[in-house]
Amino acid sequence: MLDSYVQIDLTKLKNNASAIIKKYPEYKNYIAVVKGDAYGHGMSAVKALYDGGINYFAVSSLEEARALREICSDVPVLYLEPVSVDRLEEAKELDLTLGICDMTHLKSVLGAKTEHSFNLHLQVDAGFNRLGFNDKEEISLAQKMIKESQHQLQGIYQHFATAGIFDPHYDNQIRRFKELTSLIDLSEIPMVHLGSGVALLAHPKIDVANTTRMGLLVYGYNVGPQSYGGGIKNKIREMRDKYYQKKYNLTQTIKDVEIELSPAMEYKCRILQLKRVKAGEFVGYNASYKAESDITLAVLPVGYNNGIGHANFSRCVQIGEKLYPVVGEIGMNMCAVKVDESVKITDEVTLLGKKITLGMFCRGANLGLAEALVSIGKNNERIYI
Ligand SMILES: *Cc1c(COP(=O)(O)O)cnc(C)c1O
Repeated sequence: MLDSYVQIDLTKLKNNASAIIKKYPEYKNYIAVVKGDAYGHGMSAVKALYDGGINYFAVSSLEEARALREICSDVPVLYLEPVSVDRLEEAKELDLTLGICDMTHLKSVLGAKTEHSFNLHLQVDAGFNRLGFNDKEEISLAQKMIKESQHQLQGIYQHFATAGIFDPHYDNQIRRFKELTSLIDLSEIPMVHLGSGVALLAHPKIDVANTTRMGLLVYGYNVGPQSYGGGIKNKIREMRDKYYQKKYNLTQTIKDVEIELSPAMEYKCRILQLKRVKAGEFVGYNASYKAESDITLAVLPVGYNNGIGHANFSRCVQIGEKLYPVVGEIGMNMCAVKVDESVKITDEVTLLGKKITLGMFCRGANLGLAEALVSIGKNNERIYI
Protein backbone atom coordinates (compact mmCIF):
# COMPACT_ATOMS: atom_id res chain seq x y z
CA MET A 1 0.00 0.00 0.00
CA LEU A 2 1.26 3.47 -0.85
CA ASP A 3 2.00 5.75 2.11
CA SER A 4 -0.29 8.38 0.67
CA TYR A 5 -1.96 8.96 -2.67
CA VAL A 6 -4.61 10.94 -4.47
CA GLN A 7 -7.20 9.04 -6.43
CA ILE A 8 -8.61 10.78 -9.50
CA ASP A 9 -11.89 9.56 -10.93
CA LEU A 10 -11.81 10.32 -14.66
CA THR A 11 -15.46 9.39 -15.17
CA LYS A 12 -16.43 12.08 -12.67
CA LEU A 13 -14.38 14.66 -14.55
CA LYS A 14 -16.11 13.71 -17.77
CA ASN A 15 -19.54 13.85 -16.13
CA ASN A 16 -18.80 17.23 -14.56
CA ALA A 17 -17.94 18.64 -17.97
CA SER A 18 -21.12 17.32 -19.54
CA ALA A 19 -23.27 18.49 -16.62
CA ILE A 20 -21.92 22.04 -16.99
CA ILE A 21 -22.51 22.11 -20.73
CA LYS A 22 -26.01 20.70 -20.31
CA LYS A 23 -26.84 23.33 -17.69
CA TYR A 24 -25.32 26.20 -19.71
CA PRO A 25 -25.77 25.25 -23.37
CA GLU A 26 -25.72 28.84 -24.63
CA TYR A 27 -21.96 29.09 -25.19
CA LYS A 28 -20.04 28.36 -28.38
CA ASN A 29 -16.91 27.28 -26.55
CA TYR A 30 -16.10 25.86 -23.13
CA ILE A 31 -12.58 26.51 -21.90
CA ALA A 32 -11.29 24.43 -18.99
CA VAL A 33 -8.37 26.01 -17.15
CA VAL A 34 -5.80 23.30 -16.48
CA LYS A 35 -3.06 25.39 -14.89
CA GLY A 36 -1.36 24.02 -11.80
CA ASP A 37 -1.20 20.57 -13.42
CA ALA A 38 -4.99 20.65 -13.84
CA TYR A 39 -5.50 21.89 -10.28
CA GLY A 40 -3.45 18.97 -9.03
CA HIS A 41 -5.41 16.35 -11.01
CA GLY A 42 -2.68 15.82 -13.61
CA MET A 43 -2.95 16.42 -17.33
CA SER A 44 -4.79 13.10 -17.80
CA ALA A 45 -7.78 15.18 -16.75
CA VAL A 46 -7.69 16.83 -20.17
CA LYS A 47 -8.74 13.71 -22.03
CA ALA A 48 -11.66 13.08 -19.66
CA LEU A 49 -12.83 16.70 -19.84
CA TYR A 50 -12.56 16.63 -23.60
CA ASP A 51 -14.69 13.49 -23.68
CA GLY A 52 -17.23 15.39 -21.57
CA GLY A 53 -17.46 18.16 -24.16
CA ILE A 54 -14.83 20.73 -23.16
CA ASN A 55 -13.45 21.98 -26.48
CA TYR A 56 -10.69 24.38 -25.42
CA PHE A 57 -8.04 24.33 -22.68
CA ALA A 58 -6.03 27.06 -21.00
CA VAL A 59 -2.60 26.81 -19.40
CA SER A 60 -0.26 29.17 -17.59
CA SER A 61 3.12 27.97 -18.81
CA LEU A 62 4.84 26.28 -21.71
CA GLU A 63 5.76 23.40 -19.39
CA GLU A 64 2.09 22.80 -18.69
CA ALA A 65 1.34 23.03 -22.40
CA ARG A 66 4.00 20.42 -23.13
CA ALA A 67 2.56 18.03 -20.52
CA LEU A 68 -0.89 18.60 -21.99
CA ARG A 69 0.30 17.86 -25.51
CA GLU A 70 1.61 14.49 -24.36
CA ILE A 71 -1.96 13.57 -23.46
CA CYS A 72 -3.87 15.35 -26.22
CA SER A 73 -2.22 16.52 -29.41
CA ASP A 74 -5.10 18.10 -31.25
CA VAL A 75 -7.24 20.17 -28.84
CA PRO A 76 -6.92 23.95 -28.96
CA VAL A 77 -4.90 25.34 -26.05
CA LEU A 78 -4.72 28.95 -24.94
CA TYR A 79 -1.56 30.09 -23.20
CA LEU A 80 -3.04 32.68 -20.84
CA GLU A 81 0.18 34.40 -19.90
CA PRO A 82 2.35 36.39 -22.34
CA VAL A 83 4.77 34.06 -24.07
CA SER A 84 8.40 35.04 -23.86
CA VAL A 85 9.28 35.87 -27.47
CA ASP A 86 12.47 33.84 -27.43
CA ARG A 87 10.22 30.79 -26.86
CA LEU A 88 7.85 31.47 -29.75
CA GLU A 89 9.22 28.45 -31.64
CA GLU A 90 8.21 26.22 -28.73
CA ALA A 91 4.75 27.77 -28.69
CA LYS A 92 4.51 27.03 -32.39
CA GLU A 93 5.60 23.40 -31.92
CA LEU A 94 3.03 23.03 -29.17
CA ASP A 95 0.43 24.59 -31.44
CA LEU A 96 -0.69 27.14 -28.86
CA THR A 97 -3.07 30.05 -29.02
CA LEU A 98 -1.34 33.07 -27.51
CA GLY A 99 -2.73 35.44 -24.91
CA ILE A 100 -1.51 38.98 -25.63
CA CYS A 101 -1.25 41.22 -22.58
CA ASP A 102 -0.23 44.65 -23.90
CA MET A 103 1.21 46.66 -26.81
CA THR A 104 4.80 45.82 -25.93
CA HIS A 105 4.03 42.13 -25.97
CA LEU A 106 1.98 42.37 -29.18
CA LYS A 107 4.77 44.24 -30.96
CA SER A 108 7.33 41.67 -29.91
CA VAL A 109 5.14 38.82 -31.19
CA LEU A 110 4.32 40.61 -34.46
CA GLY A 111 7.97 41.51 -34.91
CA ALA A 112 9.26 37.99 -34.34
CA LYS A 113 10.68 36.13 -37.29
CA THR A 114 8.28 33.27 -37.80
CA GLU A 115 6.32 31.97 -40.74
CA HIS A 116 3.77 30.53 -38.38
CA SER A 117 0.34 32.06 -38.10
CA PHE A 118 -0.84 32.15 -34.49
CA ASN A 119 -4.34 32.49 -33.13
CA LEU A 120 -4.24 35.38 -30.67
CA HIS A 121 -6.48 36.34 -27.76
CA LEU A 122 -6.24 39.87 -26.40
CA GLN A 123 -6.35 40.07 -22.65
CA VAL A 124 -8.21 43.09 -21.30
CA ASP A 125 -7.62 44.45 -17.83
CA ALA A 126 -11.01 45.72 -16.73
CA GLY A 127 -10.11 46.23 -13.09
CA PHE A 128 -8.13 43.22 -11.90
CA ASN A 129 -4.98 45.27 -12.39
CA ARG A 130 -2.71 42.45 -13.26
CA LEU A 131 -2.19 41.42 -16.92
CA GLY A 132 -4.00 43.02 -19.83
CA PHE A 133 -4.65 46.08 -22.01
CA ASN A 134 -6.36 48.91 -20.16
CA ASP A 135 -6.65 51.51 -22.90
CA LYS A 136 -9.38 51.43 -25.54
CA GLU A 137 -7.34 53.12 -28.28
CA GLU A 138 -4.61 50.54 -27.81
CA ILE A 139 -7.13 47.71 -28.03
CA SER A 140 -8.49 49.10 -31.26
CA LEU A 141 -4.97 49.61 -32.61
CA ALA A 142 -4.03 46.08 -31.57
CA GLN A 143 -6.95 44.72 -33.59
CA LYS A 144 -5.81 46.70 -36.65
CA MET A 145 -2.20 45.58 -36.27
CA ILE A 146 -3.25 41.94 -36.02
CA LYS A 147 -5.48 42.28 -39.11
CA GLU A 148 -2.49 43.50 -41.07
CA SER A 149 -0.27 40.69 -39.80
CA GLN A 150 -0.08 37.00 -40.64
CA HIS A 151 -1.88 36.15 -37.37
CA GLN A 152 -5.58 36.02 -36.43
CA LEU A 153 -7.42 37.70 -33.60
CA GLN A 154 -9.43 34.73 -32.42
CA GLY A 155 -10.44 35.91 -28.98
CA ILE A 156 -10.64 38.58 -26.33
CA TYR A 157 -10.94 37.98 -22.59
CA GLN A 158 -10.69 39.33 -19.10
CA HIS A 159 -10.56 37.83 -15.62
CA PHE A 160 -12.76 38.83 -12.68
CA ALA A 161 -11.16 40.00 -9.46
CA THR A 162 -14.24 39.15 -7.42
CA ALA A 163 -17.29 36.95 -7.80
CA GLY A 164 -19.57 39.96 -7.55
CA ILE A 165 -21.63 38.44 -4.81
CA PHE A 166 -23.08 41.65 -3.43
CA ASP A 167 -20.04 43.72 -4.19
CA PRO A 168 -19.89 46.25 -7.03
CA HIS A 169 -16.54 45.14 -8.52
CA TYR A 170 -18.05 42.48 -10.79
CA ASP A 171 -20.48 44.90 -12.45
CA ASN A 172 -17.82 47.58 -12.66
CA GLN A 173 -15.52 45.16 -14.46
CA ILE A 174 -18.20 44.30 -17.02
CA ARG A 175 -18.90 48.00 -17.61
CA ARG A 176 -15.19 48.65 -17.93
CA PHE A 177 -14.72 45.75 -20.34
CA LYS A 178 -17.46 47.13 -22.58
CA GLU A 179 -15.99 50.62 -22.40
CA LEU A 180 -12.49 49.34 -23.22
CA THR A 181 -13.81 47.40 -26.21
CA SER A 182 -16.16 50.14 -27.42
CA LEU A 183 -13.96 51.10 -30.39
CA ILE A 184 -13.97 47.58 -31.81
CA ASP A 185 -16.79 45.34 -32.95
CA LEU A 186 -16.87 42.43 -30.50
CA SER A 187 -19.13 40.44 -32.81
CA GLU A 188 -16.22 40.24 -35.28
CA ILE A 189 -14.15 38.31 -32.73
CA PRO A 190 -14.95 34.59 -32.64
CA MET A 191 -14.38 34.08 -28.89
CA VAL A 192 -15.31 36.55 -26.15
CA HIS A 193 -14.78 35.18 -22.65
CA LEU A 194 -15.08 37.01 -19.37
CA GLY A 195 -15.82 34.41 -16.82
CA SER A 196 -14.55 32.14 -14.16
CA GLY A 197 -16.60 29.30 -12.73
CA VAL A 198 -18.24 31.35 -10.04
CA ALA A 199 -19.24 34.07 -12.52
CA LEU A 200 -20.96 31.39 -14.59
CA LEU A 201 -22.93 30.04 -11.64
CA ALA A 202 -23.67 33.18 -9.69
CA HIS A 203 -24.92 35.54 -12.38
CA PRO A 204 -27.03 35.66 -15.52
CA LYS A 205 -25.12 35.25 -18.80
CA ILE A 206 -23.03 38.28 -19.74
CA ASP A 207 -24.54 39.47 -23.04
CA VAL A 208 -21.28 39.98 -24.96
CA ALA A 209 -19.73 36.64 -23.90
CA ASN A 210 -20.04 33.65 -26.21
CA THR A 211 -17.44 31.47 -24.51
CA THR A 212 -17.01 30.52 -20.88
CA ARG A 213 -13.85 29.72 -18.97
CA MET A 214 -13.66 27.79 -15.72
CA GLY A 215 -11.42 25.93 -13.32
CA LEU A 216 -12.75 24.56 -10.03
CA LEU A 217 -16.17 23.71 -11.50
CA VAL A 218 -14.91 21.04 -13.86
CA TYR A 219 -13.03 19.34 -11.05
CA GLY A 220 -16.33 18.96 -9.25
CA TYR A 221 -16.76 21.93 -6.93
CA ASN A 222 -19.96 23.92 -6.94
CA VAL A 223 -18.42 27.29 -6.20
CA GLY A 224 -21.67 29.19 -6.59
CA PRO A 225 -23.11 31.08 -3.63
CA GLN A 226 -25.40 29.19 -1.27
CA SER A 227 -28.28 30.53 0.80
CA TYR A 228 -27.42 31.57 4.31
CA GLY A 229 -30.02 29.39 6.02
CA GLY A 230 -32.29 30.35 8.91
CA GLY A 231 -31.75 32.35 12.07
CA ILE A 232 -31.79 36.02 12.89
CA LYS A 233 -28.12 36.64 11.95
CA ASN A 234 -28.73 35.25 8.47
CA LYS A 235 -31.86 37.36 8.08
CA ILE A 236 -29.68 40.40 8.73
CA ARG A 237 -27.14 39.22 6.15
CA GLU A 238 -29.93 38.78 3.59
CA MET A 239 -31.13 42.31 4.32
CA ARG A 240 -27.63 43.70 3.93
CA ASP A 241 -27.31 41.95 0.54
CA LYS A 242 -30.63 43.42 -0.63
CA TYR A 243 -29.50 46.86 0.46
CA TYR A 244 -26.25 46.60 -1.54
CA GLN A 245 -28.07 45.20 -4.53
CA LYS A 246 -30.32 48.27 -4.64
CA LYS A 247 -27.73 50.85 -3.70
CA TYR A 248 -25.24 49.82 -6.41
CA ASN A 249 -27.79 48.49 -8.89
CA LEU A 250 -26.02 45.12 -9.02
CA THR A 251 -26.79 42.27 -11.39
CA GLN A 252 -28.80 39.46 -9.92
CA THR A 253 -27.01 36.88 -7.79
CA ILE A 254 -28.22 33.33 -8.27
CA LYS A 255 -27.89 31.13 -5.20
CA ASP A 256 -28.13 27.37 -4.70
CA VAL A 257 -27.60 26.44 -8.35
CA GLU A 258 -28.55 22.83 -8.84
CA ILE A 259 -25.92 21.12 -10.90
CA GLU A 260 -24.63 17.58 -10.65
CA LEU A 261 -20.94 17.92 -9.96
CA SER A 262 -18.82 15.49 -8.03
CA PRO A 263 -15.29 16.05 -6.81
CA ALA A 264 -12.94 13.86 -8.80
CA MET A 265 -10.15 13.82 -6.21
CA GLU A 266 -9.87 11.76 -3.05
CA TYR A 267 -6.85 11.79 -0.80
CA LYS A 268 -5.84 8.75 1.25
CA CYS A 269 -3.02 7.34 3.32
CA ARG A 270 -2.07 4.38 5.49
CA ILE A 271 -1.35 4.25 9.21
CA LEU A 272 2.32 4.00 10.22
CA GLN A 273 1.86 3.17 13.88
CA LEU A 274 -0.86 2.90 16.53
CA LYS A 275 0.13 3.78 20.08
CA ARG A 276 -1.24 4.45 23.54
CA VAL A 277 -0.42 7.79 25.16
CA LYS A 278 -0.99 8.31 28.89
CA ALA A 279 -2.98 11.16 30.41
CA GLY A 280 -0.77 14.21 30.96
CA GLU A 281 1.65 13.39 28.08
CA PHE A 282 2.21 15.85 25.24
CA VAL A 283 1.99 15.12 21.52
CA GLY A 284 4.16 16.51 18.76
CA TYR A 285 6.37 19.57 18.19
CA ASN A 286 6.23 22.32 20.76
CA ALA A 287 4.21 20.05 23.02
CA SER A 288 1.15 21.85 21.71
CA TYR A 289 -1.34 19.09 22.57
CA LYS A 290 -1.80 17.53 25.99
CA ALA A 291 -3.67 14.25 26.43
CA GLU A 292 -6.35 14.87 29.06
CA SER A 293 -6.91 11.12 29.46
CA ASP A 294 -5.27 7.92 28.18
CA ILE A 295 -5.66 8.03 24.40
CA THR A 296 -4.80 6.02 21.28
CA LEU A 297 -2.94 7.76 18.47
CA ALA A 298 -2.58 6.81 14.85
CA VAL A 299 0.59 8.23 13.29
CA LEU A 300 0.06 9.14 9.62
CA PRO A 301 2.67 9.59 6.84
CA VAL A 302 1.36 12.99 5.73
CA GLY A 303 2.46 16.48 6.62
CA TYR A 304 3.04 19.81 4.97
CA ASN A 305 5.26 18.09 2.43
CA ASN A 306 2.09 16.31 1.28
CA GLY A 307 -0.06 19.37 0.89
CA ILE A 308 -1.51 19.89 4.32
CA GLY A 309 -1.23 23.34 5.86
CA HIS A 310 1.14 23.57 8.77
CA ALA A 311 -1.28 25.52 10.94
CA ASN A 312 -3.67 22.67 11.40
CA PHE A 313 -5.23 21.91 14.73
CA SER A 314 -8.84 21.33 13.87
CA ARG A 315 -8.72 18.98 10.89
CA CYS A 316 -10.11 15.55 10.92
CA VAL A 317 -9.61 12.37 8.95
CA GLN A 318 -11.98 9.55 8.16
CA ILE A 319 -11.26 5.93 9.11
CA GLY A 320 -14.05 3.48 8.42
CA GLU A 321 -17.22 5.49 8.83
CA LYS A 322 -15.93 7.69 11.66
CA LEU A 323 -14.13 11.03 11.76
CA TYR A 324 -11.13 11.51 14.05
CA PRO A 325 -9.33 14.75 14.99
CA VAL A 326 -5.74 15.61 14.16
CA VAL A 327 -3.85 16.42 17.35
CA GLY A 328 -0.62 18.34 17.83
CA GLU A 329 1.32 20.20 15.17
CA ILE A 330 1.64 18.96 11.62
CA GLY A 331 5.21 18.04 10.73
CA MET A 332 6.83 17.95 7.33
CA ASN A 333 5.98 14.30 6.71
CA MET A 334 3.85 13.20 9.62
CA CYS A 335 0.92 14.01 11.81
CA ALA A 336 -1.03 12.25 14.55
CA VAL A 337 -4.71 11.53 14.91
CA LYS A 338 -6.62 10.67 18.07
CA VAL A 339 -8.46 7.43 17.34
CA ASP A 340 -10.30 4.72 19.29
CA GLU A 341 -10.02 0.96 19.84
CA SER A 342 -11.89 0.16 16.62
CA VAL A 343 -9.03 1.38 14.41
CA LYS A 344 -6.62 -1.23 13.04
CA ILE A 345 -3.12 -0.69 11.61
CA THR A 346 -4.29 -1.97 8.22
CA ASP A 347 -7.14 0.56 7.94
CA GLU A 348 -7.10 3.07 5.13
CA VAL A 349 -7.34 6.73 6.14
CA THR A 350 -9.24 9.28 4.04
CA LEU A 351 -8.09 12.87 4.30
CA LEU A 352 -10.30 14.21 1.52
CA GLY A 353 -13.31 12.26 0.28
CA LYS A 354 -17.03 11.81 0.63
CA LYS A 355 -17.30 12.69 4.31
CA ILE A 356 -14.48 15.23 4.34
CA THR A 357 -15.31 17.85 1.76
CA LEU A 358 -12.74 20.18 0.24
CA GLY A 359 -14.32 22.99 2.26
CA MET A 360 -13.76 21.09 5.52
CA PHE A 361 -10.24 20.17 4.50
CA CYS A 362 -9.40 23.78 3.67
CA ARG A 363 -10.84 25.20 6.88
CA GLY A 364 -8.76 22.75 8.87
CA ALA A 365 -5.61 23.18 6.85
CA ASN A 366 -6.00 26.95 6.46
CA LEU A 367 -5.77 26.79 2.67
CA GLY A 368 -7.81 28.11 -0.28
CA LEU A 369 -9.76 25.57 -2.38
CA ALA A 370 -7.56 25.63 -5.47
CA GLU A 371 -4.45 25.98 -3.33
CA ALA A 372 -5.28 22.80 -1.43
CA LEU A 373 -5.98 20.80 -4.62
CA VAL A 374 -2.72 21.87 -6.25
CA SER A 375 -0.79 21.23 -3.10
CA ILE A 376 -2.23 17.75 -2.46
CA GLY A 377 -2.15 16.74 -6.12
CA LYS A 378 1.43 17.75 -6.71
CA ASN A 379 2.84 16.22 -3.55
CA ASN A 380 1.36 12.75 -3.59
CA GLU A 381 1.30 9.76 -5.91
CA ARG A 382 -1.65 9.91 -8.30
CA ILE A 383 -3.85 6.96 -9.15
CA TYR A 384 -6.45 7.21 -11.92
CA ILE A 385 -9.66 5.24 -11.91
C1 LIG B 1 -7.54 30.31 -12.82
C2 LIG B 1 -8.22 31.02 -13.88
C3 LIG B 1 -9.56 30.71 -14.19
C4 LIG B 1 -10.37 29.68 -13.47
O1 LIG B 1 -10.89 30.18 -12.27
P1 LIG B 1 -11.86 29.31 -11.35
O2 LIG B 1 -12.19 30.26 -10.26
O3 LIG B 1 -11.12 28.12 -10.87
O4 LIG B 1 -13.05 28.96 -12.17
C5 LIG B 1 -10.13 31.38 -15.25
N1 LIG B 1 -9.44 32.32 -15.95
C6 LIG B 1 -8.17 32.65 -15.66
C7 LIG B 1 -7.47 33.70 -16.44
C8 LIG B 1 -7.52 32.03 -14.60
O5 LIG B 1 -6.26 32.37 -14.32
